[in-house]
Amino acid sequence: MTVTLPDIAEKVHAGLRLDADDGLALLQSNDIWSIGDMAHAVRTRRHGDVAYYNINRHMNYTNICALSCAFCSFYRKAGQAGAYEHDVEVIAREAREAQEAGATEIHIVGGLHPRLPFRYYTEMLSNIRGAAPRLHIKAFTAVEIVHLARIDRRPRDLVGVLEDLKAAGLGSLPGGGAEVFDDRVHDEAFKGKIRSGKWIEVHKTAHAIGLMSNATILYGHIESLEDRVHHLCLLREAQDEALRLDRGGHFQTVIPLPFIPDDSALGNLPGPTGLEDLRMLAVCRLMLDNFAHVKAFWIMQTLPLSQLSLRFGVDDLDGTVVWYDITKVGGSGTHQETTVQDLRRAVHEAGFVPVERDTLYRSVRRHGAEWWQEDAAPAGTTTS
Ligand code: SF4
Repeated sequence: MTVTLPDIAEKVHAGLRLDADDGLALLQSNDIWSIGDMAHAVRTRRHGDVAYYNINRHMNYTNICALSCAFCSFYRKAGQAGAYEHDVEVIAREAREAQEAGATEIHIVGGLHPRLPFRYYTEMLSNIRGAAPRLHIKAFTAVEIVHLARIDRRPRDLVGVLEDLKAAGLGSLPGGGAEVFDDRVHDEAFKGKIRSGKWIEVHKTAHAIGLMSNATILYGHIESLEDRVHHLCLLREAQDEALRLDRGGHFQTVIPLPFIPDDSALGNLPGPTGLEDLRMLAVCRLMLDNFAHVKAFWIMQTLPLSQLSLRFGVDDLDGTVVWYDITKVGGSGTHQETTVQDLRRAVHEAGFVPVERDTLYRSVRRHGAEWWQEDAAPAGTTTS
């Protein structure tokens, strides 16, 4: 039986879970306004008219990578022009500057460096902790975690590796490296990277030791619409388990990432259009009924489209970012920063209420670079 949008709308309005056929029908539909209305109803049920942003800083510690994923234009080989690796002192200095400028979070990812020892990563975290104790450190995709376990010669000890990183200062995991959970796509576009089962295992392990994490899906390259739906169903299953086990960690946010061709080996592909971006964001909101948040990452979807996506199921625009080396939309450089004023204006103009959050989605109040959680008194304030 063919699934129609009115059938799906009925389920959505009754608060019922959508199945894979529903997800596929949504992705195949050109009725973007009906899809947007459904996603907006779900985001309004969860978040009212609130839209979140944060003040953060991204840091890429190295672009040297042992792999050569076809969709990636970020990686370099050691010795190649443009290859870099940062000393931990440089990273700690960047973190201190971010904290002094009022950031609440540092987001750290990098290539799979073939020579840096495990000690480099724990020292990076502890140096940041020393230099900027208030910054939440969100770092290392599941792919990097598996790489760190390998270089430390304990590939089967993900718990031990994550515990060591947590003890050194790791606060949560970002959602990168998931790409699309399908073996054909994996072998064509990112062979050598971990497969879906391992990616999910890393996040489950993180959740089990009390770390929150995020999830991504990279869409608009060589995957099929069925592959996308399958990916979302696997994420939903993993989240069901995390919430059922309730060990202190689960997925907070899904971040659908559009494929940016740049000068990658798949640079002949066009990448998704704006309408495809909106549809994908909305479908993530509709399919992932157990994820609290859907984020539009303005670096990749652009701020104008992210603003529009607030009416298509999105409730989070990420943050000020500052430095970002992985994708450079429209030939932008590594310095990719937006201001709090621009983020708040985008939210206001779209008819929503901007709320600054920290990494764990607690509301933040602020006076310049001074900040505190909504329900906590500002530093230096006494309460009676
Ligand atoms: S996507 Fe990640 S693992 Fe693949 S080449 Fe790029 S940096 Fe390396």
